[in-house]
Amino acid sequence: MRAGLLTAIRDVCCGEVPEPKPGPHDVLVAVRSVGVCGSDVHYYLRGCIGTQVVKEFPFILGHEAAGEVVAVGPAVERLKPGDRVAVEPGIPCGACEPCVTGQYNLCRAVRFLGTPPVHGAYCEYLAVPEPFAHPLPPELSFDEGAMVEPLAIGLFAADLGGVRPGHSVAVLGAGSIGLVTLMCAVAAGAGPIYVSEPLAYRREAALRLGAAAAFDPAAEDVVARVQEATGGRGVDVVFEAAGAVQAHQQLADVVRPGGTVVPIGSCAEELVPLPLANFRRKGLEVRFLRRFCHTYPRAIALARAGQVNLGALVTHRFPLERLDDAFRLVAEYGDGVIKAVATL
Ligand SMILES: [Zn+2]
Ligand SMILES: [Zn+2]
Repeated sequence: MRAGLLTAIRDVCCGEVPEPKPGPHDVLVAVRSVGVCGSDVHYYLRGCIGTQVVKEFPFILGHEAAGEVVAVGPAVERLKPGDRVAVEPGIPCGACEPCVTGQYNLCRAVRFLGTPPVHGAYCEYLAVPEPFAHPLPPELSFDEGAMVEPLAIGLFAADLGGVRPGHSVAVLGAGSIGLVTLMCAVAAGAGPIYVSEPLAYRREAALRLGAAAAFDPAAEDVVARVQEATGGRGVDVVFEAAGAVQAHQQLADVVRPGGTVVPIGSCAEELVPLPLANFRRKGLEVRFLRRFCHTYPRAIALARAGQVNLGALVTHRFPLERLDDAFRLVAEYGDGVIKAVATL
């Protein structure tokens, strides 16, 4: 089958790899759309994310996928050929303590698509255990199905932040994850919602999607702007979705005393200095998250109901053969890109 291959750092091409063989509990999914994630681009530019290193090339990246079931294993009960699905990319072991206590996102034996050494979704077919192939309703396109993955993260973040109707919220960073988090906060009835984002076109996207104001952290004092906007109180919940040291350092100053801080982004730096005394004095609750847990079905329901607009994320589409162009575009933040998808 065809696959988009990372053959070396900054080198992606299309090649042939063996087709996966579905096990008895698997469905074989013909991939139709795969989102290009910031983490894919990390691997493309550096060959690693922290301790996760691509040790063998060629490697297949990609974990935001949707497609169509073309075959099912003999033990599959629910899905059948022709069904459209969004693929949840992390397959946990099912037997370790986090798995059996319901936190399968913390499984240390998880096989996560496109995370070395597990090959990913930029390819024609994926074998997926049935419970991780979530039915995609007819209202949602395959591109939107691929965007369920980032939405599942935004929804998990909003859950952990305890976002309620009427809460004031700040989202630092308006890439895909910041925007889905914003959408989930809007869907939860929160507001006003303030966004901080250096790229003007992404600030505009945030305003279109329901932000009350969007500040430029390169030109404005974001902490002062949020404090002014909230009458000196600070917001109830703040999300970090930039993976930036500066944004992490603003969290405690943007949120109200007793408020909730949700760092989502991962920084390139292993050590990030934080004003810990400020966190302590303000009695802040900090909720870290790892990917997502149990949020795929709700993410799909939200999108189906039109409470979030996944189509608004997808600004560029490339056939799989041009995956290198897609990676370059995203790496350079070119042409107003929010999310590029590879199509098959
Ligand atoms: Zn991703
Ligand atoms: Zn496990």
